[in-house]
Amino acid sequence: MSGPDGKLFIISGPSGAGKSTVLRRVLETSPVPVRLSVSATTRLPRPGEVHGRDYYFLSDKEFRRRLANGEFLEAKEVYGQGKWYGTLWDEVRSGWDAGEAVILEIDVEGAMSVVPKVPGAVTIFLHPGSPDELERRLRARRTESDAEIARRLEVARRELEKLPLYQYEVINDDVDRAAEEICGILERETRPAEGTT
Ligand code: 5GP
Repeated sequence: MSGPDGKLFIISGPSGAGKSTVLRRVLETSPVPVRLSVSATTRLPRPGEVHGRDYYFLSDKEFRRRLANGEFLEAKEVYGQGKWYGTLWDEVRSGWDAGEAVILEIDVEGAMSVVPKVPGAVTIFLHPGSPDELERRLRARRTESDAEIARRLEVARRELEKLPLYQYEVINDDVDRAAEEICGILERETRPAEGTT
């Protein structure tokens, strides 16, 4: 059983833009009930990542089965390495059924494929401000090889060109400030339009 559609927020931005840290703060301080959708992926967990919390880590076979079964709102192969990522409809619907707005943290292509499918979806682009700053953060994280960093920077440069496709731009110069700005957007966009109550 499923209730009416709720509000969907889509946040994208270059890898290493500090999205996860900002979003954790948003979830702690949001003025409206909200949950972060847990994506499914076929990539391996990084140290410390937990199945069901950070991602649903699925085998290629299981991912393909669910894809064929129509269980994904969107799914795509990222980084040309045969690693799949996707948003399960179940994740989104269970948030809406609980009366919560749902946030998707997905890449630009995924975001743009969701927009026509979910009327009223709100798009936010979160980025560190400059490619130099992004590179500094990726290197400080020390979880990717040089080749992987180079690939991600290339993807990030291309993603930055997509900024005009988004309704909101948030610069992550400071975690608290960026989270506060996103909370302001959540509040504004979930408020019933004037004259409809
Ligand atoms: P990471 O491997 O660093 O966790 O994520 C790599 C990229 O995959 C990020 O740019 C992230 O936004 C994107 N991503 C994560 N989950 C999803 C998803 O469900 N769908 C799509 N399209 N992209 C995703």
